[in-house]
Amino acid sequence: MASGGGNNRNGTHRNSLKGTTTTSTVSTDKPLSVNSNPSKPAFKNKSSPLTGASSGLRKSSPGSLGGRAAKDDAGVPGRVRVAVRLRPRNAEESVADADFADCVELQPELKRLKLRKNNWDTDTYEFDEVLTEFASQKRVYEVVAKPVVEGVLDGYNGTIMAYGQTGTGKTYTLGRLGEEDTANRGIMVRAMEDILAEVSPEIDSVLVSYLQLYMESLQDLLDPTNDNISIVEEPKSGDVSLPGATLVEIRDQQSFLELLRLGEAHRHAANTKLNTESSRSHALLMVHVKRTVKGREPAHSSDNGNSTSMARSLRPPLVRKGKLVVVDLAGSERIDKSGSDGHTREEAKSINLSLSALGKCINALAENSAHVPVRDSKLTRLLRDSFGGTARTSLVITVGPSPRHRGETASTIMFGQRAMKVENMLKLKEEFDYKSLARRLDIQLDKLIMEHERKQKAFEVEIERITAEAQNRISEAERNYADAVEKERLKYQKDYMESIKKLEEKWMMNLQNQGNERKEQMVHIAEEVAEVKKLLSKETSLRKAAEEEVDNLKSQLAQLKMSEASANSEILKLRKMVEDEVCQKEKLEGEISMLQSQLLHLSFEADETRKRLDKGGPGKVPGRLDSPVSQVRSQLKDSGNGEKASVAKLFEQVGLQKILSLLEAEDADVRIHAVKVVANLAAEETNQQKIVEAGGLKSLLMLLGSSEDETIHRVAAGAIANLAMNEKNRELIMSQGGISLLSTTASHAKDPQTLRMVAGAIANLCGNDKLQTKLRGEGGIKALLEIVKCGHPDVLAQVARGIANFAKCESRAATQGSKTGRSLLIEDGALPWIVQNANSDASPIRRHNELALCHLAQHEVNAKDMISEGALWELVRISQDCPREDIRTLAHRTLASSPDFIAGLKRLRINY
Ligand code: ADP
Ligand code: MG
Repeated sequence: MASGGGNNRNGTHRNSLKGTTTTSTVSTDKPLSVNSNPSKPAFKNKSSPLTGASSGLRKSSPGSLGGRAAKDDAGVPGRVRVAVRLRPRNAEESVADADFADCVELQPELKRLKLRKNNWDTDTYEFDEVLTEFASQKRVYEVVAKPVVEGVLDGYNGTIMAYGQTGTGKTYTLGRLGEEDTANRGIMVRAMEDILAEVSPEIDSVLVSYLQLYMESLQDLLDPTNDNISIVEEPKSGDVSLPGATLVEIRDQQSFLELLRLGEAHRHAANTKLNTESSRSHALLMVHVKRTVKGREPAHSSDNGNSTSMARSLRPPLVRKGKLVVVDLAGSERIDKSGSDGHTREEAKSINLSLSALGKCINALAENSAHVPVRDSKLTRLLRDSFGGTARTSLVITVGPSPRHRGETASTIMFGQRAMKVENMLKLKEEFDYKSLARRLDIQLDKLIMEHERKQKAFEVEIERITAEAQNRISEAERNYADAVEKERLKYQKDYMESIKKLEEKWMMNLQNQGNERKEQMVHIAEEVAEVKKLLSKETSLRKAAEEEVDNLKSQLAQLKMSEASANSEILKLRKMVEDEVCQKEKLEGEISMLQSQLLHLSFEADETRKRLDKGGPGKVPGRLDSPVSQVRSQLKDSGNGEKASVAKLFEQVGLQKILSLLEAEDADVRIHAVKVVANLAAEETNQQKIVEAGGLKSLLMLLGSSEDETIHRVAAGAIANLAMNEKNRELIMSQGGISLLSTTASHAKDPQTLRMVAGAIANLCGNDKLQTKLRGEGGIKALLEIVKCGHPDVLAQVARGIANFAKCESRAATQGSKTGRSLLIEDGALPWIVQNANSDASPIRRHNELALCHLAQHEVNAKDMISEGALWELVRISQDCPREDIRTLAHRTLASSPDFIAGLKRLRINY
């Protein structure tokens, strides 16, 4: 019961009691006009009686009422609803009051009660509900209690209280168990049925306390030993709690019924013990309904709809705690009236203290009094939330029909009328259940830890598995690698062996080849060895012979010794002879080894000789066209018999074949010496034939072509020149390509002596009648004309000799008629050079050219060319100045006989 009731919330009901009393004074016939007291709440709420309010609460969404209640701390106004119930006449009354009418008349459709004051006057009262004596228990429950029970299930506190005189049916209305007939079940049983039907046992809880208040002592009906329970009020919220009271959780209706029976039994026992009756005590059933709000954000949670499920799971559950208090009050009859039952007056006062305190509080609340004496009694302290508090409160006042109790009935009605003016502010008892959140989180945490451990274990197993697998893979890879390496190694080994085999084969082949070469060499060496052996045996035989000789001489000496006649001089002579023989022997031994040195010597000698001859100059050898080789030959002849004898001896001892073979020797010096020896031999006419037959000419020609040594070229050319002195040999030389070989040699020559030898050879070849055309055809004349470019007089002399030889043969052939046409010399352009050198200072050149001109001039066919080239002047000079008379005569005769020359002389005005 709100103590601060000074506001105006109940201002409209202030006069309700007054109003009802005044209506009674207006008219008894007239029904109570609803307009007569418009401020009366009962009238105002006529269209919404207790049931209407109830359905309004239920029908509107809980959120709309609950939400508003939660947001608005002041709550929603909710007036105390009051219903009146009339008990039917009982047997005693039926008899006792048979001749009297009931003092109460009900007009349920108008929700009015008429209280008969006397036979002619009634007071009319309006209630939120008027329940006749025929109203069923079910209907009473639905009208009085159901809205309150539903409010409790929604999180509001609720109070259902019965007030009335003893025996009017309070307990019948509230506490009937309905065991004999279920239709008789009272509000408590039906309320619990509804509650249990509504709650979820898993998340919701229903706890019940059952108490009795007697003479300001609060007793636990569920635990009779607990007979002085203290009331604890929370100053902040104003909530009242009874920490000492037994709280029994109710899960089914049966246990609740048993609890009620037990409570009733205890109540009866307690009252016997106290020597009192139930009607003198207040019975309080407290049902604590705690419900978890499912699938709904808490009313005072954040409006942010984006909260995550995690956040949601961390949010404590929202619970609504509704407390239903069912109060079966002690009989409201005045104590003095019932003071006959043996209780003292004080006791009677005490018994009704709570009830009168309740009446006072309700009066204060109804009148909006500044002071509500809540603390005056335990009952008012226990019910402070039910009147002027936050609970939805429904009060049923019970009345009996008997006119004998008219005063009590009127008093009860007045109580009800005042209670109707009490306005409560309904508040939703909604809060966060942090304990349950903590419990839930603990459970969740345990679950998570278990899950984590399970995962950890699975993870470790997985790691082990992966590690094992990795190990397997690694070892497999290692195996594969080792296999691959071994394979590769075998392959390389095989390749290596094959390479080795191939190399060995190659090596063997090379060895074989080398063996063959070596064999050849061995054969060669063997041959040489055999030869040397031959020589050695020869030497040995010579030595033997010498030794024999020595022996012979020794024996002779011995003989001489024996002969006393021999003188010392004889002995010395013999010794000298022996010495000579030894010398001879030694000479013979060294002969072969000295071969080379002798050759060198001879070569040197030959060169020296040639030089001497050169120094002697031309003209020293008179009367013939000497070849250089013949000069050498003559020099050799002149220089004494030593060298000549050596060469001859060599020729005899070694043999021409061997010497010629040396022309092809590998050693260049040997070749040079050999060719010099052959040249010397070729200088001798007697040897020439032998040399040619032994193939010497061929070898010499070959040397011209094959060798690059100019000395060889020079000496070979000299030898060929000597051989070319023989007419037969000239043909051989020509047939073996001599002209071209000589031409080539000349073209490469640097030493004038080489050119001299080549020119000499060609000059010799020019002196052959048969070979004229061939020689000219193979470029012999051209070669000579090339050679003259060197300018050396010795060379020019040989060229001039060749040309003269050629011209002589040509002239002879022309005379014989075998040659016609212009001279081949003129054809090849030799004429200008002949004319130019016809008067050379070098006499051999001059002489040969003069002769050549004379031979050319023999034939008229050459005359014109000769004239045009200036030969006419030379011929005139020759005919006059030539020291040789035969040539002078020839020139003269020719000039005189040739018509062309005569004409030419005339034209040139040469007076001849
Ligand atoms: P109270 O608790 O107010 O003292 P009770 O509930 O004990 O009264 O009722 C007294 C007697 O009246 C009981 O025998 C009860 O069965 C009977 N009674 C009360 N109300 C009714 C009713 N509405 N219908 C029938 N009998 C009733
Ligand atoms: Mg009773």
